[in-house]
This record gives sequence, C-alpha cells and structure tokens, in this order.
Amino acid sequence: MATERTLSIVKPDGVQNGHIGHVLTVFEAAGLRIAAARLVHLTSAQAGAFYQEHAARPVYGELVDYMTSGPVLLLVLEGDQAVARNRELMGATDPAQAADGTIRKLYAESKGRNTVHGSDSAASAAREIAFFFSQAFDLT
Ligand code: UDP
Ligand code: MG
Repeated sequence: MATERTLSIVKPDGVQNGHIGHVLTVFEAAGLRIAAARLVHLTSAQAGAFYQEHAARPVYGELVDYMTSGPVLLLVLEGDQAVARNRELMGATDPAQAADGTIRKLYAESKGRNTVHGSDSAASAAREIAFFFSQAFDLT
C-alpha cells in the first residue's frame, strides 16, 4: 500500500453548477480522504503561477481567465495511490474522450471547462500542494 497525497481542484464550472457535493462523494466513495480543503477565488497572478508549466501553450491565457472566473475548491486528497486514483476518477482532459462514469464525462462542458484539476505525478502533487497549503497549519 502506497499512501499518497494529491491536489484536486473543483474548477469554476464545477462550483458554479453545484457539483461540489457529488465530486466529494466520488472521492470519498473511492477511499480518498479529504485531508485539506479551501474555497478561494484565485487572482490572475495565482492562477498564472499555478499553471506556469503551460505558459507557452496557446491555451494559457484562456485557462487563466477561466480559472479566475469564479471560486474554486482546493482539495488535498489522501489515500492508496491517490495521484493515479484521482486521475482515473476525473477522466480524460477532453470530456468527449473521458470514460463513462468519470467526473469529466458526467459534468465537463468542454476541454477547457472540465470541472476538475488533478496532479499528474507525485512530483507535481508535492509542488501543487505546497503552492496552496501550508504543511504546518492545513495538513495536520
Ligand atoms: N486545456 C484547454 N485546452 C486544451 C488543453 C488543456 O483548455 O486543449 C486546459 C484544461 O482546462 C486542462 C488544463 O488546460 O484541464 C491543463 O491541461 P492538461 O493538459 O494538464 O490537462 P489535465 O491534466 O487537466 O487533464
Ligand atoms: Mg495537467
């Protein structure tokens, strides 16, 4: 058993469309514990820094605008193989490609407005959790 932590974000469309409750249920039903949570409205500087790895992509400006269009729910999920498990529960980036029963298949409106973020590796998870959460206060 490899207990891990990963960062999840319920994106503005997920919050706006009232899907927080079901998304949390999906995580908990899959054995992922909510280790930390915070509802925030990101600034452009925060969203831009968080998505720095995508800065050279044409979609970057649109992505930052979208992620700052309304509140998001920041989550730290904890459990066995949490990084991969969360990615499975999310489904593919493009909802048209997402497997049946995944969060994105159920709720995503488009490749951009796709309801949830999830760290893509253990290294990304460590960086992304540290970006938003203080170990000392939020993850005890
Ligand atoms: N994105 C987009 N258009 C694309 C690819 C990505 O709008 O063609 C957005 C989308 O919101 C996605 C985010 O950029 O979730 C980060 O892209 P990534 O390739 O990391 O996908 P993810 O890891 O979220 O599945
Ligand atoms: Mg990604």
